[in-house]
Amino acid sequence: MVENWSLACNACGKCCNSPPALSLRELFRHRERFIGCIAVSRVFPLRTGARLGADASGRPLDADEAAASEALAHTLFHRLDGAGGWLSVTLQGYDDRLSGRCPALAADGRCTLHDAGKPDRCEAVPLDPLLPDRLQPHVLRDRRESMQSFGAVCIRPNFSDGATPLIRGGRVADTTALERSRHALVYERNVWRDAVFASLCEPSSGLPSRLAMLAPGVYLTLPIVPALFAVARFSARCREACIELLDSQIALIDARVAEAIAKRRLDLRPVTRELRGFAEVCERAKSALRSMGDRSQHGEDPKITADVEAWLGLADDAGFKTVALAAETVH
Ligand code: SF4
Ligand code: SF4
Repeated sequence: MVENWSLACNACGKCCNSPPALSLRELFRHRERFIGCIAVSRVFPLRTGARLGADASGRPLDADEAAASEALAHTLFHRLDGAGGWLSVTLQGYDDRLSGRCPALAADGRCTLHDAGKPDRCEAVPLDPLLPDRLQPHVLRDRRESMQSFGAVCIRPNFSDGATPLIRGGRVADTTALERSRHALVYERNVWRDAVFASLCEPSSGLPSRLAMLAPGVYLTLPIVPALFAVARFSARCREACIELLDSQIALIDARVAEAIAKRRLDLRPVTRELRGFAEVCERAKSALRSMGDRSQHGEDPKITADVEAWLGLADDAGFKTVALAAETVH
């Protein structure tokens, strides 16, 4: 069956009900807006015959779709030995549940980051970069239902005046946002995600058995500190930038904790406790990073170092192209 899908977005903001997934580069850029955390979850293989999400009406996945899903998961995630499937180790804006909306959402329902550069994941909405292009019609069928449940009727199974085509004849009309999002994930494997995955798998972390038990849809959230230690190894400049990022994160956390306390809501106590824990970890990390001194420069190739600095927005030469750690394009 040939499918057409379109999006008639009126910027109502209803889908901006929590902070988005971010790359580290985006967290550096929007540090005053988001409290970053590492989100860890399991990714289960999609088998032939499975249906996506709550899309019980859609057709089951065929063998090619299941194979494409496996290939993309292999590129984006980390294989979880023994437990089956993969582990997703990504960055996320911390959801403090204070307002039930993304902190970048303005009162009129518009995104305040529109001109400063929306996160790639938001640009891709309602498509899902974590699934292959050929599965996007399934994604839209599934998301259409869930978005209708909160009053958004913007995903349409046809083309209409003023709507942006998403799927034309069964194929994604514009893959730019999907590819940018996947590229960031692959690139940042080399910058911090591989290193954090390795540290999570250390038996001394006490986490491997916990990770293998994570149920579908359950996320473990951790402070961003391990990601910053991975970045700091590239250069003194990266290390200084990580310390500055921690300063702004601590200031943001303090402001959110004060806001939560002012609301006098019992249900927010676990959030304030977790945020205070994050702030303490960030303070300790600042001291540890300062004491690293120039030991942070441990022989990285200067080209790679320059590339990572450019990726994170630290380079003077804004025109520098990220080539040394270039990520392969994935579909
Ligand atoms: S819910 Fe739909 S119409 Fe509203 S902002 Fe999101 S995509 Fe646009
Ligand atoms: S960053 Fe902007 S587009 Fe993304 S969830 Fe927040 S308000 Fe919505």
